[in-house]
Amino acid sequence: MLETIRKVDTVIFDKTGTVTEGAFALLEFTPLCSAEGAQSYAEAVQGLSATQPLFAFRSFGKTNAVLSGAISSGSVSGELHLVASLERYSEHPLAQAIVKHAQSEGVDLLNAKEVEIRKGLGLTGNVAGHQVFVGNRRLIEEQGISIGDGIDQQAQQWQSLGYTVAFYGWEGKLRGLMAFGDRVKKDAAIVVADLKKRGINTMLVSGDARETTAFVAATLGVDDFVAEALPHDKTAVIEQLQAQGQVVAMIGDGINDAPALAQADLGIAVGSGTDIAMKAAAIVLMNNSLGKLPEVFELSYHTQRIVRQNLFWAFIYNTLGITLAVAGILTPIMAAGAMLLSSLSVIGNSLRLSRK
Ligand code: ADP
Ligand code: MG
Repeated sequence: MLETIRKVDTVIFDKTGTVTEGAFALLEFTPLCSAEGAQSYAEAVQGLSATQPLFAFRSFGKTNAVLSGAISSGSVSGELHLVASLERYSEHPLAQAIVKHAQSEGVDLLNAKEVEIRKGLGLTGNVAGHQVFVGNRRLIEEQGISIGDGIDQQAQQWQSLGYTVAFYGWEGKLRGLMAFGDRVKKDAAIVVADLKKRGINTMLVSGDARETTAFVAATLGVDDFVAEALPHDKTAVIEQLQAQGQVVAMIGDGINDAPALAQADLGIAVGSGTDIAMKAAAIVLMNNSLGKLPEVFELSYHTQRIVRQNLFWAFIYNTLGITLAVAGILTPIMAAGAMLLSSLSVIGNSLRLSRK
C-alpha cells in the first residue's frame, strides 16, 4: 500500500463531511408566496392534529435572500413541520439540520408513511396525508416540476455564496426552498496545497449543485471539480482517470462514497465517517481531520527512500565482500560477521522510520 501511495497522481475529495464539517445549519426556510402556496399551507395545517404544537413563527433571514419580497413568512411553521416530519427518516446531514431545528423549537414530529430515500437526490413520503418531497433540483425535475426563474435565481444566489439549497413541496407542487450553511474544515486548504506541492492533481466531487461545489473548490484551491455527481458518477470519474493511466486516491466519508473508495487505487476514509466507508477504505484518518494526510504521503516517500538506501548499501557491501572473498582476503568466518553487520545496518537505517 505504501508503494501505491507513492504512485498517486490524483487525489479526489468528497465535499460534504470530508472537506467540510458536514454539520449543516438551516439558515433559510422560504415558503413561496403564491395564492396556491397560501392555500396549500392551510391544507397542510389542517392535516396536523390540533394537539400538535406548531412552530412559533420564525423568519430566518440569515443569508440575504433576494426573493424576500416574495416570501410568505406566515407559513414557515406549518411547512417546516411537514418537511421535518419527513426528514427524520433520512440520515443525510441536511435532514439532521432540519430535524435539529424542529426539535429546538420543541415540536413533536409526525410519522410518515411510504418513505423513499433517493440517494444523492433527497426523499419522498406521505406525511399527514400529503405526498411530500424534499431534495435537490434533480429530484424536483424528476417529479415533472419546473423550477421558476425567480426561485432559480434565489437558489443560485445562495449557491454562489457556498450554501447548499434544497427544495420541498407536496402534491406535485413546489412549495418552497431552504438554504443550509456548512464550514470548510480548517486544515483542508493546507492539505490541498501540500498535495499540489508534491505534484499531485487535486479534485473535488460532490452531489451538491454546481455553484456550491465551485465555491468550495475555490476556497480549497483544488485543480478541478465535478458537481451534481450521483454515487455511480463518482465511481465513473475515478474509472475514467484510471483508464488514462492515472493512480487515483479517493477520500470520503459517506455511504455514498463507499463504491468510489473501493474503486480508487487508494481509498481513504475520514474518521467520523460511516462504518461502510471505513470498511471500503485502505486508510482511515481518525478524528475527522484531514491534517494527517500529508504525513501518510510523507511516510510513503520516506519509506521508499530508505528502501532504496538499504538496497544501495547492501549491493555495495555484497560486491565488496564477494571481490575480497574471491581474492582470498575474506575468510568464511569474516564473511558471516560481515553479513550480520550488513543486516544490522539495514535494520538500523529502517528504524529511522519510527522516528518520523
Ligand atoms: P455529497 O456528495 O456532497 O455528500 P449527496 O450525494 O449526499 O452530497 O447529496 C446531494 C444533494 O442531494 C444534496 O446537496 C441535497 O441537495 C440533496 N439531498 C440528498 N439527501 C437529501 C435530504 N435528505 N434532504 C434534502 N436534500 C437532500
Ligand atoms: Mg459526503
